[in-house]
Formats: sequence, C-alpha cells, structure tokens
Amino acid sequence: MSQPVLVIAEVRGGKLRQVSLEALQAARIARGEGADVQAVIVGSGITALAAELAGYVGGKVHAVDHPELASYNAPAYVQAVKGLLEELRPARIYLGHTAEGRDLAPQLAALLGAGQISDVISIGEGELYKRPVYAGKAFEEKRFLSGSGVVTVRPNNIPPAEPAAAPGEVVDRDYAPPADLRSIVRDVLRKAGGKVDLAEAKIVISGGRGVKSADGFKPLEELADVLGAAVGASRGACDAGYCDYALQIGQTGKVVTPEVYIACGISGAIQHLAGMSQSRVIIAINKDPEAPIFKVADYGIVGDLFDVVPLLTEEFRKV
Ligand code: FAD
Repeated sequence: MSQPVLVIAEVRGGKLRQVSLEALQAARIARGEGADVQAVIVGSGITALAAELAGYVGGKVHAVDHPELASYNAPAYVQAVKGLLEELRPARIYLGHTAEGRDLAPQLAALLGAGQISDVISIGEGELYKRPVYAGKAFEEKRFLSGSGVVTVRPNNIPPAEPAAAPGEVVDRDYAPPADLRSIVRDVLRKAGGKVDLAEAKIVISGGRGVKSADGFKPLEELADVLGAAVGASRGACDAGYCDYALQIGQTGKVVTPEVYIACGISGAIQHLAGMSQSRVIIAINKDPEAPIFKVADYGIVGDLFDVVPLLTEEFRKV
C-alpha cells in the first residue's frame, strides 16, 4: 500500500473554507485518482463539518474536536495533528495558502522532515508545481526530488473538488493539550469591508486613493452588494486612512485571484499589481487615460469613478 496523502482542512466562521476543497483537488491532480487521500479537520464542535468534508474526500477524515481548538493556535494545532503525522507518515500534505496554512505548513514540514512548495497555482504532468515569483512577474516550476512534501495552494486557482462517489469515514481522534499551551485571550476579527471573504471572492471591487475619503468607498460597497463581491483597496487608500489595512491588496497585503477584479481610482503601481494581476478579468476605472493600470486591464473605463460606479450598480440591479 502506498503512503497516504493528507489534506489539512480549514474552518472559518463555522464553515469549511473553499480553499480546503481546492487543496483536496490539488492532491487528486498531483497524486492521481488512485491515491489514498485522507483529510484532517481540527476545531471545536465540528461533527457536521467533518461529515461534510467526508462527502468530498471519499477516504478517511480524521476529526480532532476540542474546545481549546475553537480558533487557530499554532502549538495546539500542531499537537492536534502530530500523532496522526507520526502514524501515517504521509507522502504529501496539502493545505490552503492562507494565514493559517502559511503558519502551519513549515511546522508540519519540520515535523516530517519534509520539503515544502508554497503558493502553488497549478499542477502539471509529473507532479510539477507552478508558483508565481518576483511579485507575479515570473513563474517557477518545482517538484520534490525525494522524500515527503508539504504543499500550500493559493486560493481561487485550482477548482474545488467535487463530492466523492461515496462518502468517506470520519475517525474521531483524541487531543491532549500541550503542557505549555498559551491560550488565546481575545480573537479579534478586523472588519474587512463587505460581506464576502476577500481571499476567496469571485468578484473583488477595489478602491484606491481616487476614492478620496472613507465615504468614497460607499459607492463601491453598494456595487459589491449587488454583485455579491468583496471590497478591497490599494495601499494608497489604506495609508490615507480611507479604510482598514485588512482590505489592502498587493505585495505587502493580500493576494487575490478572483474571476473579476474592478480597480476604481487605482493607478496600478507594481506593488499593487503583485496582489491582483492573476485575476481572470481586470476592469479599470480611472480618470487618467495614461494610468498604468490600463496596461494590465482587459477592459478600461476612462472616467470619474463617482459617475461610473453608480451607473454600473444601477445596471447590474436590473439583471
Ligand atoms: P495613486 O497612485 O495616488 O493613484 C490614484 C489614482 O486614482 C490615479 O491614477 C488617479 O488618476 C485616479 N483617480 C483620482 N480620482 C479619481 C476619480 N474621481 N475617478 C477615477 N480615478 C481617479 N500598494 C498597494 O496597493 N499594495 C501593496 O501591497 C503595496 N505594497 C508596497 C510595498 C512597498 C515596499 C512600497 C514601497 C510600496 C507599496 N505599495 C503598495 C504602494 C504603491 O507603490 C503605490 O503607492 C500605491 O499602490 C498607490 O495607491 P493608489 O493607486 O490608490 O494611489
């Protein structure tokens, strides 16, 4: 029997994150349909989520359910999966390239003595992993030459896994908190504008310094409501105090890959492009026809965003 492959599922706001299904699909693409793919889900009160996940995995889903695991805590989560890693010695581990995944992945790689390939956007023949480098200006392809490997998957790039032909089995696992565990006193969720998770949104509407004030984001939020989109921002808008840094997209902010990215009043600095240039369709609204954002845009509207955005909202409301 070949070594199993393990997907680490992530829970956010009582739901299974879509990127976990993308990580599962990555495991299937990379290791082939015949691979023994298993998953682990860690959290508190996750019985229903474990069953939901088993419907996609088809193989074993290990559930570590404990009140201390209600929110992400590195030592606790490592402890939760440590025994399983020692038992399975998985050939590969797949997780989302999220804040949690980026923190957990190297710790698991160290535990396994494995290599790591991060921020993967696609997988080619012969388990060749493609990832952007130099802020998205180039791509590199990597493979593991020997031993185990840990892979993090950029959200919204690999299609999510379809449900399995038959649901897998949920295996409840014990959890003993580490002796020196420091618990989280307060979990602060910063308001990230709009109701949709920025990293996983299919449509992102971003505002730059051109929105001119915090109130200037309102037309963007209205359009986002109509389209079911998330609201993002340039660092220019964040630095000016128009919005929270949780919205920042770019080299030093979040990386997004939505199907549609609408940049409003954003000049298109290279550091901003690093966070959004992989979007499928880019629409730019800027009153300066020479703005660099038009060089990467698929569609461009030269005009005042305060005229154009409400018109778009009005039209999409009719659809
Ligand atoms: P501006 O460059 O000032 O552009 C505003 C645009 O709005 C202009 O093109 C203007 O024509 C247009 N405009 C004005 N009014 C209107 C209107 N009414 N209607 C339509 N258009 C209008 N930036 C990021 O975004 N993300 C990052 O992660 C990031 N990281 C950085 C890291 C480093 C180390 C450094 C040095 C910089 C970083 N920056 C980042 C900053 C980046 O270089 C730019 O300064 C920033 O992206 C500019 O933001 P902006 O496009 O909103 O503002």
